[in-house]
Amino acid sequence: MMFTCPECKAKTLTAEDGWASCSACSYEEAAEQAAIGFCTNVLGMGAKEIQVGQDGHILNCPNCPDENTLVDNRSPGGDDERYLCFCCGETWKSHALACCVECGLLKKTTDMVGEACAGCFRGKVNSDD
Ligand SMILES: [Zn+2]
Ligand SMILES: [Zn+2]
Ligand SMILES: [Zn+2]
Repeated sequence: MMFTCPECKAKTLTAEDGWASCSACSYEEAAEQAAIGFCTNVLGMGAKEIQVGQDGHILNCPNCPDENTLVDNRSPGGDDERYLCFCCGETWKSHALACCVECGLLKKTTDMVGEACAGCFRGKVNSDD
């Protein structure tokens, strides 16, 4: 999946293994920096507006071990690519990810059991016996 480059604004940015790089210009950044760059330069947010962490604009990707690499694109029309990860290059629609009520992390809805993620659900079941 190609993202809009924070530097040249062409949709030629790819993300893989924790790095985002653009084939149209020389932009290359670590995932977390690229996520912040996308918020400021592409979504037009002020640096102070950007919230990192739970309920913020930059979140943890359910695919990736690295933290703060997933952008929650709340701009109008952003629903097709609501969540963009600058670590693995995946995108999700808004309904494809949900926040686990137990751990507060964003998870794929296919990995959820009710309102909890599978990991928290298993932990709960185990602690009950
Ligand atoms: Zn570029
Ligand atoms: Zn990811
Ligand atoms: Zn959980």
